[in-house]
Amino acid sequence: MTLIDDLRSAGLTGRGGAAFSTAVKVAAAYDNGAALIVNACDGELGAAKDAFVVAAHLGELVEGARLVTRGSGRIRYAAHRGSDTETRLIAAGLDVLDVPSRYVSSEETAVISLATKGLARPMTKRAPFVGGGRDSRGRRIPPTVVLNAETVWRIAQIAAYGPDWFRAQGTPAEPGPRLVTIGGAVPRPGVLETAAGMPLTTLLAAAGGMPSGAGYLWVGGLGGVLMPAADVPRLRWSSADLAAYGGSVGPGVIDVLDPRECPVEYVDRMLTYAAGESAGQCGPCMFGLPAIAADWHDLAAVRPGNRATVESRLTQRLALVPGRGACRFPDGVARFAASAHRQLSDHLAAHAEGHCPTSPTHAGPTHAGPTYPGPTYAGPTYSNSPVTPVAESTSRSSRVV
Ligand code: SF4
Repeated sequence: MTLIDDLRSAGLTGRGGAAFSTAVKVAAAYDNGAALIVNACDGELGAAKDAFVVAAHLGELVEGARLVTRGSGRIRYAAHRGSDTETRLIAAGLDVLDVPSRYVSSEETAVISLATKGLARPMTKRAPFVGGGRDSRGRRIPPTVVLNAETVWRIAQIAAYGPDWFRAQGTPAEPGPRLVTIGGAVPRPGVLETAAGMPLTTLLAAAGGMPSGAGYLWVGGLGGVLMPAADVPRLRWSSADLAAYGGSVGPGVIDVLDPRECPVEYVDRMLTYAAGESAGQCGPCMFGLPAIAADWHDLAAVRPGNRATVESRLTQRLALVPGRGACRFPDGVARFAASAHRQLSDHLAAHAEGHCPTSPTHAGPTHAGPTYPGPTYAGPTYSNSPVTPVAESTSRSSRVV
């Protein structure tokens, strides 16, 4: 059995969010003699699992990268500038790609552009860059494959323990162990190791559980969805269950909203942040996202008034934005905004009547503008409180559920 056979049998998919077949990507990398960029940026808001892999499993990560490049040595490790992850990778003597701390800078084609002396901005992908290509200015891009750090770690594990070990965890549709970062209003935020099919209640309990009165979870970051906390007891951590809300396990991020904060204002902050993160290259980002954020801001005001015109305009914009940018960033933000619009319709209606269900004194969003950095996260907490260990090799430092 070759590594490609093992990856195909295991059913490993990218753990960065796209869930594309890793066997297909690695096979294309072999065919084209592609260089590898290990993306350890934790690019999604609230994510910390790449940091965990680098901190706790660096040896296996390096071995996985060696397998993907068949020892050619053409490997770079992408990490956000000034992060602990970057410090650790440099200290280990690895070739580090210093990525600016912007949301879209860690997108797959943005890191390829940066690695080839271009700007850290997404490139239009006419065909996957694993076969090489040219950017919009005609610069030649050599064959390059980008794999998320957790994905590369899993490759090393599959090579060491076999595809049957991997498939023994998770569901047939989403096999294997996977990391998830749980943050927000939980007592023990951190990185957990779990597998698809785990009851969501069990997963959240490992982070200390949801606070009393919790109303919503934000799943999947800026490209994710909002879902009601009341539905958690009947859901599993799987894309099949999350599909009912338009979501998926995606990049493995869950943020529990603080029940003391108005959820409409929370979404307002995220959309304002997203509107400020455009790389300024495409219309949907430059104009669409700021317009969506402005519409939401209007809807979020706590004052009596008819918002029908704004509601209708927002709905039209949310339908217009997807599929028009060079990358999927605006698509994801539109999905999140549409999900929030659906889930918070009653709350928005209350604001339009002049009161906020969260707080009688709340007057609507007050944040200053697009410089808001998004939810902050303290990084992985490597405490050992395993609930159901899935494998000796994977339970070394993360909490396992
Ligand atoms: S869609 Fe937005 S983030 Fe993506 S390339 Fe265009 S401007 Fe940049």
